[in-house]
Amino acid sequence: MELKKFEFWFIVGSQDLYGEETLKKVAEHARIMADDFNKDPALSGTIVLKPTVISPAGIRSLFEEANANASCAGVITWMHTFSPSKMWIQGLAVNKKPLLHLHTQFNRDIPWATIDMAFMNLNQSAHGDREHGYIHARMRLPRKIVAGFWQDKELRKKIDIWMRSAAAKHDGMNKTVLRLGDNMREVAVTEGDKVEAQIKFGWQVNTWGIGDLAARYAKITDAQALSLIEEYAKSYEMCAEKNAVLEQAKIEIALKEMLETENAGAFTTTFQDLHGLPQLPGLASQRLMEQGYGFGAEGDWKQSMLTRCAKVMASGLSGGVSFIEDYTYHFEPGNEAALGAHMLEICPSIAEGKPRIEVHPLAIGGKNDPARLVFNAAPGSAVLATLVDLGNRFRMIVNEIETIKIENDMPKLPVARALWKPYPSLSEAAESWILCGGAHHSVYSRALTADYFRDWAEMCGIEFVLINKDTSVNRLHDELRWSEAYYV
Ligand code: MN
Repeated sequence: MELKKFEFWFIVGSQDLYGEETLKKVAEHARIMADDFNKDPALSGTIVLKPTVISPAGIRSLFEEANANASCAGVITWMHTFSPSKMWIQGLAVNKKPLLHLHTQFNRDIPWATIDMAFMNLNQSAHGDREHGYIHARMRLPRKIVAGFWQDKELRKKIDIWMRSAAAKHDGMNKTVLRLGDNMREVAVTEGDKVEAQIKFGWQVNTWGIGDLAARYAKITDAQALSLIEEYAKSYEMCAEKNAVLEQAKIEIALKEMLETENAGAFTTTFQDLHGLPQLPGLASQRLMEQGYGFGAEGDWKQSMLTRCAKVMASGLSGGVSFIEDYTYHFEPGNEAALGAHMLEICPSIAEGKPRIEVHPLAIGGKNDPARLVFNAAPGSAVLATLVDLGNRFRMIVNEIETIKIENDMPKLPVARALWKPYPSLSEAAESWILCGGAHHSVYSRALTADYFRDWAEMCGIEFVLINKDTSVNRLHDELRWSEAYYV
């Protein structure tokens, strides 16, 4: 996905006490900064500089314009000089876009020999941005604060993480989660409040009958499927007869048509509702995830939409994003690890080497043998993120993990898999995750870090819990109780 299409409006605050000359300088500096930001490939979105704001009416109308603008995915504010914050109240009160408060200054160094009061009055972000930050705090506004010199690489990395998270939020505002059938019978954690999800995330979580997909599937010709299989042969190792892959290729074509027709960014399937389809979408789901769609198995629409969000955040980054499930443990002392996989549906974007297309029977569902991509996930630092509905709020849980190289062949395991060591340790991570009510399904990524999900959770106004090397289970237990009071 092209992230440059997402605009981030750069709003520089000042006031009319300084005179024309100062305001001209402010505008000139902002222009230089905006141009430089836009030349930097490290910043994914497009910065759009707006005229310096100096009055309550101007500020309010600019935020109203941002709200109404379909390309604007977020607003970045910076106070080059002092901009009294009561002027900002009405504008901030109407703002619906994610907000980043950039705390920087145009000059890097203090000009020791020449500094005078005129210089100080022009370059006073150090206190102008404190006035600005106060009103955000006073109004209890969700926002991201990034401080430092504007040319600094680390500062720009933080801005980029926020931009990518805001792009994911923006993408969600007009996307559908296409549910094929309902959730798996009797399962609790994949359920949730779809109305609240639309309020918080923008996603429209709606259901289509599996018959709609089956009808499209029936119309796909062998020739269409065979031409897609030619494409498979270029990217994957074919370890199955073409005819055995035909059904999955047809499902992929039919499902993609349906996703495009419904403007869907994500979809769910369930093995309990496949009437009219020859088999569970396996390879088809893997391929569609690889093309940027979110996926959730057993009707898990929350993890499906979260996979889509992560796909948007990770656009153009290496490391991949996949739906995944904690499957089984290795408890060898000193070498503990968790094996993540699913019945079929793991995205090949996380693969090490060339995935193999294989055909095997599926233990549940009672349908034909589905083709699937089989591979090991590439090693490296990664995260697991999941979204659960606690009744009065959504909670996002993120665990930092280290994916390790799989040293043993598993010739009888016919699915893609990842092996990881979670932080702080397998037992403490599992205790923490389970204490939080974390799902068995999650989104796995080596392209992203916890910060992306934290920024996204902040924008959406939901709870965020991080499990990493600093986590103490007892401390977390207390924190969750405090959060319970916060969210009453
Ligand atoms: Mn599952």
